[in-house]
Amino acid sequence: MHGKALKISFTLFLPTMSAIKFFSTNGQTERVDFRAALLMGQAPDKGLYMPEEIPQIPKSRIGQFSKMSYPQIAYEVIKPYLGNLVSDSDLRAMLEDAYNYEVPVERVYDEKYVMRLDRGPTCSFKDFAARAMGRMIQYFLKQEGKSILILTATSGDTGSAVAHAFYGLDNVLVVVLFPEKEVTERQRRQMTTLGKNIFPLAVKGKFDDCQALVKKAFVDADLSALNLSSANSINIGRLLPQAVYYFYAHSRVAPLGGEIVFSVPSGNFGDLMGGLLALKMGLPARKFVVATNENDEFPRFMDTGIYEPIRSSKNCISNAMNVGHPSNLARLFCLYGGQMDETGRVGLRPDLAAMHKDIYAVSITDEETRQTIKEAYSRYRVLLEPHGAVAWAGLMKYLKECGDFSPCVSLETADPAKFPDEIVRATGINPPLPAAMARLDELEEKFEKMDGQYSSLKDYLRRFL
Ligand SMILES: *Cc1c(COP(=O)(O)O)cnc(C)c1O
Repeated sequence: MHGKALKISFTLFLPTMSAIKFFSTNGQTERVDFRAALLMGQAPDKGLYMPEEIPQIPKSRIGQFSKMSYPQIAYEVIKPYLGNLVSDSDLRAMLEDAYNYEVPVERVYDEKYVMRLDRGPTCSFKDFAARAMGRMIQYFLKQEGKSILILTATSGDTGSAVAHAFYGLDNVLVVVLFPEKEVTERQRRQMTTLGKNIFPLAVKGKFDDCQALVKKAFVDADLSALNLSSANSINIGRLLPQAVYYFYAHSRVAPLGGEIVFSVPSGNFGDLMGGLLALKMGLPARKFVVATNENDEFPRFMDTGIYEPIRSSKNCISNAMNVGHPSNLARLFCLYGGQMDETGRVGLRPDLAAMHKDIYAVSITDEETRQTIKEAYSRYRVLLEPHGAVAWAGLMKYLKECGDFSPCVSLETADPAKFPDEIVRATGINPPLPAAMARLDELEEKFEKMDGQYSSLKDYLRRFL
C-alpha cells in the first residue's frame, strides 16, 4: 500500500474511553488493541504498530506533574493507551514496582541539565522500557495461560535490560542476538552471566545483521509454534514507557509549563519516538535535538530529503547507536504523514518542513565524542559516557547555531562504568562500578556463537519447539 498516508487523530482522553487501536505502518493488516500489539511485537505485514489516536493530556494536568512521583507520571502517560485492558490498581502497582530507582536531573550550567537514565538494574535507559514491558507481558500471559519466546537483537544494552526484566520466569524464554565484536565486555557479561531462561547468542556480524535475522524469524511460519515476540523497540510496549521520562524531566525543570529542548542520542530511534509521542500528547517541548554518531543516515535525510540506509554500519564508540537503518524511522515517517517499509523504501515522503520544526538532527564523530567526554569532565566535573556525550555535543552544536535560551535536558543513557576504556582514556578517571554491576567481572559466562546465516538461527530456535 504505497502512496497512501495512514491517518492518526488526536483526542482528548476520557477515563471511560475504550482502548486505543493500533495499526501497522505497512497498512496491510488489521488494527489491534495494545495487548495484541504488545504480545506480537512486529505486525504480521512486517510493519510497526502505531496508535490510531494520540490522547491529549491537558496543560492543567501536565502542570500537576511537578507534584507527582515518577511512577505516578508513568500512570498518567500510559493509561490512556490501555483503556480497561488493565485495571487501574494493577497498572499502578506494576509501575511502582518497575520504577523503584532514582531518575536524577543534574544541572550542568545555567538551565542546561543532564538527565541520568542509568540507575536501573542494568544501568542503561533500556531498563525503563524493558521493566514496564516485562511486567505488562507477564500480566497478559497469565490471563491467557500462554508462554512465549522473546527473540531480540541488541546493539549492547537492550539484551541485558530485557534479560533482567524476564529473568527466572517460567512462561518466557529469552534469546538475545548480539554482534560478537561490537559490545563491551561488561555489556556482554550483563547478558551471559544469568543463565536459566536466558540464551545469549554471539553473532558474527553487526547489529543490523542481528536485527534482520530476528525480523526474518518473526515471519517464518515454521517457527510460529514458538509464539515469537520481540522486545526490540519495534515493540510498541517499549515505546510508551519511553514517553514518560520526557514528561518527568519537564515537570522537574519547567514546573510552570514553559517549553524545553531535549537532546536524544539516537540509534534505532525508539528513544526519540517516545519523545515525539510525548510531544504529540501535549508535552511542552520546543525542539528535539537528534544526535547520531557517524551512522548519519538520518541527519543526511533531514538535509537532503533523500533516505539512504548505511548498508554496513560504522563501528563507533557509542556502540548502542551503530545502526545503519533504524527500525523506528517507519514510525517517525508515519507520524509526519509519510510511509516507509521495513527495508527502508520510502512509499510516501513525510512532511519535511514539519519535521524540521520539531527536530534538529546532527551527527557527531568519535573524535568529537571523546573531546566532549574530556571537556564535560574538566569544565563541569560531569562524567559522561559515549552515548550521553553524543547527545551533549549535539546540544552544544544546536545552541551555537540557534542561540536558544530555553531550559535544555540532554539524555545520559548509560552508566560510564559500562565503557571504562573510553572514560579512562578521555578523563583519566576509572568510573566507579555501580552496585548493580558489583560482581559482574567475576561471574561465569555462558553463551553460544553463531555465523550470520538465517538457517543457523532457525536450527538453533528449533530446539525450543
Ligand atoms: C539503545 C541505546 C541508545 C539508542 O537508543 P535508540 O532508542 O536505539 O535510539 C543510546 N544510548 C544507549 C546507552 C543505548 O543503550
